Amino acid sequence: MAKNTLDFSSLGEEFFSPITTQPLNNTFLIHKNQALYDQLGLDFDEKTLLKIASGEQKFEGTQPIASIYAGHQFGHFVPQLGDGRSCLIGQVSGYELSLKGAGTTPYSRGADGRAVLRSSIREYLCSIAMKGLNIATTEALTLVSSDTEVYRENIEPGSIVMRVAPSHVRFGHFELFASRGQTAQVKQLADFVIEHYYPYCQGESRYVDFFNEVVKHTAVMIARWQAQGFSHGVMNTDNMSILGLTIDYGPFGFLETYNPKFVCNHSDHEGRYAFEQQPGIALWNLARLGDSLESLIDAKQSKAVLDNYQAYLVKAYSKLMRQKFGFIKKDDQDNVLIGQFFEVLYQNQKDYTNSLRQLSDIDQLSKDTDFTDWIELYHKRIDQDKSSDRVELMNSVNPKYILRNYLAEEAIREAQDQKRYDKIATLFELLRKPFDEHQGLELYTNEAPDWAQGLSVSCSS
Ligand code: AMP
Ligand code: MG
Repeated sequence: MAKNTLDFSSLGEEFFSPITTQPLNNTFLIHKNQALYDQLGLDFDEKTLLKIASGEQKFEGTQPIASIYAGHQFGHFVPQLGDGRSCLIGQVSGYELSLKGAGTTPYSRGADGRAVLRSSIREYLCSIAMKGLNIATTEALTLVSSDTEVYRENIEPGSIVMRVAPSHVRFGHFELFASRGQTAQVKQLADFVIEHYYPYCQGESRYVDFFNEVVKHTAVMIARWQAQGFSHGVMNTDNMSILGLTIDYGPFGFLETYNPKFVCNHSDHEGRYAFEQQPGIALWNLARLGDSLESLIDAKQSKAVLDNYQAYLVKAYSKLMRQKFGFIKKDDQDNVLIGQFFEVLYQNQKDYTNSLRQLSDIDQLSKDTDFTDWIELYHKRIDQDKSSDRVELMNSVNPKYILRNYLAEEAIREAQDQKRYDKIATLFELLRKPFDEHQGLELYTNEAPDWAQGLSVSCSS
């Protein structure tokens, strides 16, 4: 009989189904996140690790489970979703381990329970990129591929990413029980999340405090997305983590040419999840979570908590943006100057990341005539601060390397066409430390080449 060492399992079987993983053929390990592996205190031999990472062997005898949830997808409520292709396989050092792509579950809704190599590489690399950028995220421990053929628009190799996070609970878990009127389960889930992840929320106001914490964590996550130019692509409530982690990497994209209306998801025709919409959408999603908690929190208090969102967001965003521009002392005109900089980027179709990184090298930036007028104002402004560690501060928040879509695509094509995986390893190292110079690898800061201009990413994964 398999053990049940997952905290989540203590919730009882209304919250999940035990499942049997369906392994792939001829699996092989493409990459492992060694630092995370060490942090978790894992020490398997290679064969055992591969078996666990591909769902062939249980983790410490633990019974894998798939959880049930609901969610608002593109604004519309879907009464039942769930882990359709992922499952929790174990827990270690306070982190849940989850496999994505290990086969069907009772929540697969007719789909195949698989993940393809293309999307698994993207999730694996973006997880480390976000971690490197200090943005809260689920992490990825292993990337496994196989000879199993998976049918999407093309036939693609079936792959599995092992995700790692303290919890994979989503807003949608609460929405499921609330929508069914199962208020006892809503309370049970809230108590569980508070006990394990927000233990400092105690006493009579604990549900209000808990909701406020979720609002705060989400606001900080979104502030960092916006500052670093990350666009999630599918901000449905089932893709929103109760811990404020970035979760479910699908058709995400980083801003390259600056455009606040950037839509990374080719299937998002209305631009619901456009880059500039993300802060508002996150608040809308939090309001749906608030609705689900109405049996625990009265409407007035719930509204008051939601009203805090804006202040949390602005505080975190301003702090990061000020660092990115190297502003030390406060000046009333700082926001105007920042706005003017973005206007130059927009008018001249400039690269978001590279332009910000160049700000610490004014001599270099001065050579760019697009910035001539703005640089004069900026020069005056930073002279006010007279700070000696300005450049260091700026380079610690303005990444040199981001996961450009074409870079991911190059790594994917090499993997698919030549079964070569060195680009994945190189990108992993760059993105793990995106603020470092990595001399000799400047090539990876290049803007998208012509062949990549029309690349599109859809929900198909
Ligand atoms: P996503 O938009 O990727 O977050 O997926 C939305 C829902 O569809 C989730 O419940 C997923 O588990 C499920 N899902 C997506 N792709 C598959 C698949 N290939 N097989 C089974 N379920 C899937
Ligand atoms: Mg999802």
